[in-house]
Amino acid sequence: MHYTKINREICIACGLCQIIAPTLYEYDENGIAYTVRDGNQGVIPVEKEEMDLFKKAYTSCPTGAILRSTQPFSEKE
Ligand code: SF4
Repeated sequence: MHYTKINREICIACGLCQIIAPTLYEYDENGIAYTVRDGNQGVIPVEKEEMDLFKKAYTSCPTGAILRSTQPFSEKE
């Protein structure tokens, strides 16, 4: 299982992750990304069929703001 969330402090609002993986990422009115399904908690696993796009988004983020883990992230931001 893979979990993801955004480090919103270093996201530069480029929009790439949402374009690449719109089922995983969305951005707020300031363009700062968050994970769609769990409100950026990082507690709902990436679906198997989303893994390719997840990896593509992860490697495309210019600031490394996309976080990944094999464990659910804690609820702390
Ligand atoms: S690709 Fe990275 S910098 Fe761009 S919006 Fe997504 S998290 Fe932010």
